[in-house]
Amino acid sequence: MPAVDLLADLREIVGDTHVVTDPEAAQPYAQDWTRRWHGKPLAVVRPATVAQVSAVLRACAAAGISLVPQGGNTGLVGGGVPHDGEVVLSLARLDSVGPLDPLGRTLMAGAGVTLAQLQRAARSAGLDVGLDFSARDTATVGGIAATNAGGERVMRHGAARFRIRGLEVVLADGSVVRRMSGVAKDNTGYDLVQLMIGSEGTLGVITAVQVDLIRPHKIVGTALVAVSTVDDALTVLRAVQRDFTGLEAAEFFHHDGLQLVLKHERLAQPFERPHPLYLLFDLADDDNRPDSFDELTALLTDLDCVRDVVLVATAAERRRLWELRELQTEAVSAEGVPVKLDVALPLNQLSNFERQLAEVVRPVARHAVSIIFGHIAEGNVHVNLLNALDEDAGGAVTEAVLDLVAALGGSISAEHGIGQANRRWLPLTRGSADLAAMRAIKQALDPEGILSPGRMLPDPVVPEPEPKPKVAAKKTTRTRARTTR
Ligand SMILES: Cc1cc2nc3c(=O)[nH]c(=O)nc-3n(C[C@H](O)[C@H](O)[C@H](O)COP(=O)(O)OP(=O)(O)OC[C@H]3O[C@@H](n4cnc5c(N)ncnc54)[C@H](O)[C@@H]3O)c2cc1C
Repeated sequence: MPAVDLLADLREIVGDTHVVTDPEAAQPYAQDWTRRWHGKPLAVVRPATVAQVSAVLRACAAAGISLVPQGGNTGLVGGGVPHDGEVVLSLARLDSVGPLDPLGRTLMAGAGVTLAQLQRAARSAGLDVGLDFSARDTATVGGIAATNAGGERVMRHGAARFRIRGLEVVLADGSVVRRMSGVAKDNTGYDLVQLMIGSEGTLGVITAVQVDLIRPHKIVGTALVAVSTVDDALTVLRAVQRDFTGLEAAEFFHHDGLQLVLKHERLAQPFERPHPLYLLFDLADDDNRPDSFDELTALLTDLDCVRDVVLVATAAERRRLWELRELQTEAVSAEGVPVKLDVALPLNQLSNFERQLAEVVRPVARHAVSIIFGHIAEGNVHVNLLNALDEDAGGAVTEAVLDLVAALGGSISAEHGIGQANRRWLPLTRGSADLAAMRAIKQALDPEGILSPGRMLPDPVVPEPEPKPKVAAKKTTRTRARTTR
């Protein structure tokens, strides 16, 4: 079917105004948040119901045109931006919130509902989502489910897959799977909900999410602790975890990242003098100790490795400290387009990683400046390399860092996903049986390759040509395989 016929079909399904073909109007959907990934879509389609999503998928499949689902477009690995000629399927108009079941503690939401809207709905009933990160005003619940997003509360409440009980998903052929009974125990067959979470739009389009809510704990204090090294930060973390049960979040950032935030966001220095590294954490009142704030102060001032500390209790003061960490992503982006990596290391390898990072990056990007921060409790490090984009055109910088991560036993993608950015490097930490199983799942659910092709999975293995025997071969030669990059 020619593209014009597809556009006519799409207009019929969602209405003229919701099929965007004008390049200027389509621009916000065509480029990612980092400005590194972009494409020229055939159209941006904005359905408002699950029936429309299903019809759009069927129309694209009939036309043989692939599509890429998109929520808030805050993803950081190029998973939600189009390749040239693809259709962007925006889920933003599926934005209904509720109902909320206070007894079962679940909340329904359309895929286009933002995290902040979800949090407000949960909090209005005295509950919470248990998920949070700084893109909360734009990131959608569909995108969060599709990327298994993490963020600041993972150490306490788990990543998105722990906070989601049910999903409604449209498969590549337009059929709809709905698993939203809300029951907390359900071992009926394969867990398609968990399969879809983290599949980054490659296996189905999420149209609604049933969120598993938490009973929030009151935060009694937020501490910003200045230390010298990442090992010192881990020592502080262990001491707090030993004496208190209510640790809600633990983040870290370095001096240079803090300076970028102060430069671009015009915030005040938290300490009189600079320190190499900062640990930021929230303490909740789980232990019901009336003096927990004072006890925490005493613990931190007694620790030899603590260089300085700011401990605050009011919501406004806490927010100011959190901005120093949360605004790092924006501050890096204001400085330039970085090579962005999101990795996780075993905790006992974190300092090794930090030490060796410069050594592996220098030979491939001599002028790279690394800004590192992240979620320390999970060993999750966001590596931002400024002045290294040109050198990474062929992937040399990414490869140097991810090789190091794999050698240290880490994960090459902790929470941002694979998308376009990381797919070449999947074989670093996923074996051939693992990759074959993933390909089989993709083939079974999307045999025509309509959903987000060229993301997540690396290009197929291309067998090398059989060497031509010079003389008649006596034994069969075993075929070796290589991956295309
Ligand atoms: C400032 C900033 C801070 C961030 N902090 C964190 C953090 O702490 N932790 C973290 O995990 N992430 C973080 N992110 C990354 C990002 O916000 C999350 O990955 C988020 O979940 C993406 O949601 P979205 O709606 O913007 O998805 P999009 O960017 O639109 O899409 C992301 C991926 O999901 C797919 N997708 C989107 N919607 C659907 C759907 N309905 N059905 C199927 N597939 C879909 C897309 O195709 C794409 O592959 C941050 C991003 C920014 C810009």
